[in-house]
Amino acid sequence: MTTDYYNIAFQYTEEQKLIQESTKSWVNRFVMPKIKVCYQESKPIPNITKELANIGAFGLIIPEEYGGMGADYISYGLMMQELERGDTSVRVMSSIQTSLVMYAILTFGTETQKEKYLPKLATGDYLGAFGLTESNFGSNTAGMHCHFKEVADEIILTGSKMWIGNSSTCDIAIVWAKDEHDNVRGIIVETDKVTNFNSSLIEDKWSFRTSKTGELIFSESKLPKSQLLPKTKTIKDAYKCLNIGRYAVAWGSIGIAMNCYETALKYSQERIQFGQPIASKQLIQKKLADMITEITKAQLICHQLGKLMDDNKSTYQQISMAKRNNVKMAQSVAKEARQILGGMGITGEYPIMRHLMNLETLVTYQGTHEMHLLITGRDITGINAI
Ligand SMILES: Cc1cc2nc3c(=O)[nH]c(=O)nc-3n(C[C@H](O)[C@H](O)[C@H](O)COP(=O)(O)OP(=O)(O)OC[C@H]3O[C@@H](n4cnc5c(N)ncnc54)[C@H](O)[C@@H]3O)c2cc1C
Repeated sequence: MTTDYYNIAFQYTEEQKLIQESTKSWVNRFVMPKIKVCYQESKPIPNITKELANIGAFGLIIPEEYGGMGADYISYGLMMQELERGDTSVRVMSSIQTSLVMYAILTFGTETQKEKYLPKLATGDYLGAFGLTESNFGSNTAGMHCHFKEVADEIILTGSKMWIGNSSTCDIAIVWAKDEHDNVRGIIVETDKVTNFNSSLIEDKWSFRTSKTGELIFSESKLPKSQLLPKTKTIKDAYKCLNIGRYAVAWGSIGIAMNCYETALKYSQERIQFGQPIASKQLIQKKLADMITEITKAQLICHQLGKLMDDNKSTYQQISMAKRNNVKMAQSVAKEARQILGGMGITGEYPIMRHLMNLETLVTYQGTHEMHLLITGRDITGINAI
């Protein structure tokens, strides 16, 4: 039984279908055989950076002149869905590079910065990171302490960023910091050139186990003033990048839910109890029927959102709603799928516990579930309850 219950795919172009199918087959070939061991050993999938670059997963929506593929947002969403069907860490790697780093440079950078960094990010020769969160400023990122001053041709940057994906492996990081007038600016930090820079790793995570997360630490670190992203002025500029990231999470969550649903459906048709497949039981059918219904609703949200984004008509509040709804949907689908598999559901033989652990981060990062609810609340009432 298909996971595209409303045949949304009939609206896809040939190019969109090709991107979805080729990503899916790459995930089956490259990610699936390795992910279980890598996850349990908490190490990245070997060669993942180059492999993702080869399938065009770095910069799918970035114009071709800068090394990207110039694809539309539906294509991007479908790619995120298929990558996360494999594992969240794979989608995250593609998404940090594309949604947060390349998008920031494309949107806020000079022509020189675009030409210098985007093609190398597209080929995976440079790996990027996005440094916004601080240990004392998570949901309230606008309160950040990281700051810099300009002295002659240099920036002197002080502060630290926490929970940063690729912190210890990145070649460049987009770091958000306040200038002397309290304006929030984006800075392209080349980690091998900036002075007095350190990174650290959060070693004992039960979620996102195949991606590296940690700190970026700057103490009176010097870098050229030309590394400032000139079109950044406020925290809203960082949020513009996060919007593209949240869009990727909304689609990726569907990939998780599809993988859990398909696993549970197959298992329920094969598992015999009381002389019959458990799929013949009404209580199991209720779980499966609810799952595919919720998946379908999430697909419709994303499909419409993608069309709005392609027409440049989406709002950040719509993206918030999609992120919040789809992550929660995937969490409840994964939980029910785990239950359908009984004891087997907790083993590494099936992907469900791995997805459930990753979902714990998806609920929190790129804006928590509560923050997105409050964004919708503010939008519909006109009253800020944050
Ligand atoms: C694995 C992982 C990877 C990450 N990667 C990155 C990255 O690459 N770059 C980056 O910059 N950040 C990254 N983050 C950080 C992430 O975005 C933050 O964790 C997130 O924004 C929440 O911040 P916090 O953890 O400090 O929680 P807090 O802000 O302390 O929130 C704690 C709880 O309080 C609730 N809360 C807070 N304020 C309110 C309020 N006003 N009303 C109601 N409830 C409230 C929250 O919803 C939450 O439930 C990552 C996080 C994780 C876990």
